[in-house]
Amino acid sequence: MTTPQDLRLMAVHAHPDDESSKGAATSAKYVAEGVSVRVVSCTGGERGDILNERLKGEPHILRDITRVRREEMARAAEILGVSHTWLGFVDSGLPEGDPPPPLPEGCFALEPLDVTTEALVRVIREFRPHVVTTYDENGGYPHPDHIQTHVVTMAAWRAAGDPAAYPHAGEPWQPLKLYYNGWTLERTTALHEAMLAEGLESPWADWLANMRRRPRRRLHTHIHCGPGRPLVRGAAGDAAARLADRGVRAGPLDRAGHDAGGRPLRRDPRARRPG
Ligand SMILES: [Zn+2]
Repeated sequence: MTTPQDLRLMAVHAHPDDESSKGAATSAKYVAEGVSVRVVSCTGGERGDILNERLKGEPHILRDITRVRREEMARAAEILGVSHTWLGFVDSGLPEGDPPPPLPEGCFALEPLDVTTEALVRVIREFRPHVVTTYDENGGYPHPDHIQTHVVTMAAWRAAGDPAAYPHAGEPWQPLKLYYNGWTLERTTALHEAMLAEGLESPWADWLANMRRRPRRRLHTHIHCGPGRPLVRGAAGDAAARLADRGVRAGPLDRAGHDAGGRPLRRDPRARRPG
């Protein structure tokens, strides 16, 4: 009989912090059940923005954001109970402007697909996941690294079990299932309303408008994370401080979360927007 201890789940993400804002509760739930969970970060998040106004001038972050993000990732992995692999590519940044500037040379999204795919195939064949999660073909949001994460994961998913593909990247292993993780309209609406109820400025209004414009996707699977709640809450609480403190690309989703008794999560007063 298969037990949770025999099962392995791999979550492929674009940047450090995505593991805490997309699927963290799922990771924690399965870890709590005994499943081995591996997070793969395709890039080091070297071009992340500092969103927290109060930390924008912090010299140690400005001096070495890569190191700060590595430390945050290590802490997130510890709290979630997951193992972690850096795929080793460089953040492409989020090009802004009309027209957007070209992507920087040598970044993840511009790497030859064979190179990035082989790197992920190697990790899949080493960890041998039964289930893989990644973003949909739109990346969840239009960051070139998120879209590329989808492209690379799909290519690696197709190649990992093929003995003729990347023969020097380990013994073939075909994962059984692949899921796209995603933000639902319901979840984003709940976050938006909870932030407004707390008197906070919500960054989700634009997201909601965009989501309502797009055709709704049919969700095939909902993961109920209730049984792992204490662990999830611990991870989320830490992620709230972590993300708010470091203010990389993730939003303040955790500050809007509530525990099983309906009490708001511990709030980090430094995370409040000035004024
Ligand atoms: Zn990201």
